Amino acid sequence: MLESTTLAVKEQEKTVALFDTLAQMGHEQIVFCNDPQSGLKAIIAVHSSILGPALGGVRMWNYATEQEALNDVLRLSRGMTFKNAIAGLNLGGGKAVIISNPRKDKSEALLRIYGKFVKNLNGKYLTAEDVGMTEKDMEYISMETKYVTGLPHYLGGSGAPAPMTAYGTYMGMKAAAKKVYGSDSLAGKRIAIQGVGHVGEVLVDYLTKEGSKVFITDIYEDRIKAVANKYKVEVVDKETIYDLDMDIYSPCALGATVNDDTLDRLKCTIIAGCANNQLKDEKIHGQECLKRGIVYAPDFLINAGGVINIATEVNGSYNQAWAKAQTETIYEKTLEVLNVSLSQGRNAQEVAMEMALRRINEIGRIKAMY
Ligand code: NAD
Repeated sequence: MLESTTLAVKEQEKTVALFDTLAQMGHEQIVFCNDPQSGLKAIIAVHSSILGPALGGVRMWNYATEQEALNDVLRLSRGMTFKNAIAGLNLGGGKAVIISNPRKDKSEALLRIYGKFVKNLNGKYLTAEDVGMTEKDMEYISMETKYVTGLPHYLGGSGAPAPMTAYGTYMGMKAAAKKVYGSDSLAGKRIAIQGVGHVGEVLVDYLTKEGSKVFITDIYEDRIKAVANKYKVEVVDKETIYDLDMDIYSPCALGATVNDDTLDRLKCTIIAGCANNQLKDEKIHGQECLKRGIVYAPDFLINAGGVINIATEVNGSYNQAWAKAQTETIYEKTLEVLNVSLSQGRNAQEVAMEMALRRINEIGRIKAMY
């Protein structure tokens, strides 16, 4: 039985027995993949397969330590269980990480051997794109396994998930605006986007078209240049983004950026972005947002567009119209969560997790019936 206990990064950083951690977090299976010849060091985590095969992307990142990679995959895979459930998908939650620098260490052999490891899970885990990966990488993985999604359109797949993720994030941001400002128009709103990668850039496109005043930052100069040359945005320093005079802070890079330090600096009224695990501690920082009058749009709810897009591929051919319509439901779901959160004075992340868990328990029971 899954539980909606919230998690803190710091708890995961403690050296505790791995099986105790898995028991606390509710994981079903962890696979360590090692291939010294290609340099592959990967961890695949299946958190839950109650609603269906565990779907979640593979992240390639230059982790400082193996423990950091393990913490990341455990948290991310658990997040996928809640994300897939609240998105209305018949899929469980899983995730994989490859410990490597995506700009230097990627090779056909490394990707294909990773594909072999995915294949050996016989469909219990379905892989896809995440940070540091591309559609082309999925193509290499597909040479070894059919349990890969997010394939390019020219192979009949759903293509890159980022545009639909950005659309869903935009829907969630609009719903939060409706709740806070009484209108979902983002025209004239000052919005700071941290990370202008695959998703962040498309979000910039939506927001500049709507007439928002957009600020951007990134750790890579080439990304900043590419976006600043294309859209009317203001570039800000990656360290001072939290201190800006802004209405909406939109984390679109990595997780845990909503923490003790940044909450003392953030002057926004809404936090809504696509990054996974934005709250360093789901309980403490979710509650802190509430206390400080910041409306937090739960990350796993508003960034579900990409996985919704990918999910259509699991049942056969890609259906973009369905994916777009399902992604639009993020608007109503976000409003529902925020209505409960604000009327009952409860952490929005916890309210959204409860909603996801309710579906897992209700639908899981039906699936378990003969
Ligand atoms: P990406 O790698 O294309 O973009 C991330 C960008 O953030 C990069 O340009 C990177 O340089 C930048 N960045 C990293 N650390 C930073 C920092 N400290 N300050 C500023 N910029 C920084 O990844 P993406 O696909 O756009 O995904 C972004 C986030 O959204 C990730 O957390 C990812 O897990 C999450 N997400 C992505 C999808 C998707 O469809 N791609 C779906 C759901 C969630």
